Amino acid sequence: MQPIHVIGGGLAGSEAAWQIASRGVPVVLHEMRPLRSTAVHKTGGFAELVCSNSFRSDDRDHNAVGLLHEEMRRLGSLVMRSGDANQVPAGGALAVDRDGFSQMVTAALEAHPLVDICRDEIADLPPAQWDSVIIATGPLTSPGLAAAIGTATGETALAFFDAIAPIVHRDSIDMSVAWFQSRYDHVGPGGSGADYINCPLDRAQYQAFLDALLAGDRVSFHDWESAPYFDGCLPIEIMAERGPNTLRFGPMKPVGLSNPHRPGQRPYAVVQLRQDNRLGTLFNIVGFQTKLKHAEQTRVLRMIPGLEHAEFARLGGLHRNTFLNSPKLLDGTLRLKSLPRLRFAGQITGCEGYVESAAIGLLAGRFAAAERRGEAFEPPPPTTAHGALLTHITGGHVETIDAGPQSFQPMNVNFGLFPPLAHSPRGADGARLRGTEKTIAKRRALTARALVDLDRWNRGMPVTTETIAGLVPAGTSAGVPEPHLR
Ligand SMILES: Cc1cc2nc3c(=O)[nH]c(=O)nc-3n(C[C@H](O)[C@H](O)[C@H](O)COP(=O)(O)OP(=O)(O)OC[C@H]3O[C@@H](n4cnc5c(N)ncnc54)[C@H](O)[C@@H]3O)c2cc1C
Repeated sequence: MQPIHVIGGGLAGSEAAWQIASRGVPVVLHEMRPLRSTAVHKTGGFAELVCSNSFRSDDRDHNAVGLLHEEMRRLGSLVMRSGDANQVPAGGALAVDRDGFSQMVTAALEAHPLVDICRDEIADLPPAQWDSVIIATGPLTSPGLAAAIGTATGETALAFFDAIAPIVHRDSIDMSVAWFQSRYDHVGPGGSGADYINCPLDRAQYQAFLDALLAGDRVSFHDWESAPYFDGCLPIEIMAERGPNTLRFGPMKPVGLSNPHRPGQRPYAVVQLRQDNRLGTLFNIVGFQTKLKHAEQTRVLRMIPGLEHAEFARLGGLHRNTFLNSPKLLDGTLRLKSLPRLRFAGQITGCEGYVESAAIGLLAGRFAAAERRGEAFEPPPPTTAHGALLTHITGGHVETIDAGPQSFQPMNVNFGLFPPLAHSPRGADGARLRGTEKTIAKRRALTARALVDLDRWNRGMPVTTETIAGLVPAGTSAGVPEPHLR
């Protein structure tokens, strides 16, 4: 059997290679380290953790990344097995001894008879005779390969920095303050004239928001990142530094909008949120990319009227990164539509985080192995954490014309990516739940549904979408996504 080539022995590539070999298919794993390193890797080991040593929450019942851990365990993940075996104390998080973790992943791959390891850099598009390739070269893909992918996919299809605006769960926005309206009620192609959620600020609220922005603690760029400020995607705090009205003439301009809650009263500034996923559960804050520290973002953004109780699916950021415009370029099994012998996995597909990268590697490996073996292989259902993440990458994000070519930005797994429950969970006595109790119950129902559906999918059984309803919660916290250090 011809081998599958995996390029990059990071979180995604290591997991992909393991999944392929575990299915009896030979694999060649190409890794350029230690011959050539990136700006952040320090070793030649596989699955090196370049920054924090945390896989974030391990709570599979109430946390989307904890659910992803559990799903990966059930799918035979090498990354999770090595993480569990090298756990260090970290409360509810799964943190690992980074050296022990990487050594275990490396040893498992080196020992597998179907894994052939090549310590080489693939500096151009893989040769035509490699008929099945997974590119998992990560956020710091070497320049030669990145340039070749850029040429193959088109000028704006590969980004080298992310410019992330915060994303809010739709049901946490106070619609007694905010309202739906497109600027000048513009319908446009595919719009309704009421596509944006608008949050109004009066003069005093705007000034207080500006002061908080300017005083907020910021994350600095690493030396090797060389601050990439383009006028099209300036962080809001940098815009605020340029003058008191810059934001009012930029992303917070109040024109073409009328507040139905205060007829006749023109807002001094308006923050707009645009739908981010097809499900309509997530809205991004338009033009609000920011380098403020995560805790500061939460505090400052909740000063915006209507967002006082906002729950954030993603907070803002600006980093050196390499990622594809995947919803346009990749098919449902992560193949490049224009060159299907190439599959992508990991951070380069637009997921974010160690665990998410490994999970997408797991899926890419399984897709490629099934294809090689001539077997049918269905993607996981979108009700699972794997399926929700995959669906987001390969099509769940909605791109609006005015959002520009890079509206797709990296994303951690979060509950906003899951299809909503058909029925709201109720308490043991059948009563409607409210507030935190409701949030916790919803999360338990979503995770329970996910695990039932994952097990059925893994056994090749048809998936029933609405398996679980009305679960009674055990305590947990809700609100802000856990940040990882970057
Ligand atoms: C500075 C920084 C800090 C981060 N911190 C965190 C964090 O704390 N927590 C978190 O969850 N996520 C973090 N991330 C995000 C991301 O999840 C990790 O980068 C993760 O390692 C991505 O997994 P990956 O497999 O896609 O890429 P990587 O793990 O980076 O693996 C890619 C591999 O490909 C190799 N490679 C690259 N080009 C080539 C080539 N042409 N030929 C052969 N091999 C090649 C690289 O050497 C590397 O081993 C961080 C990212 C960066 C850049």
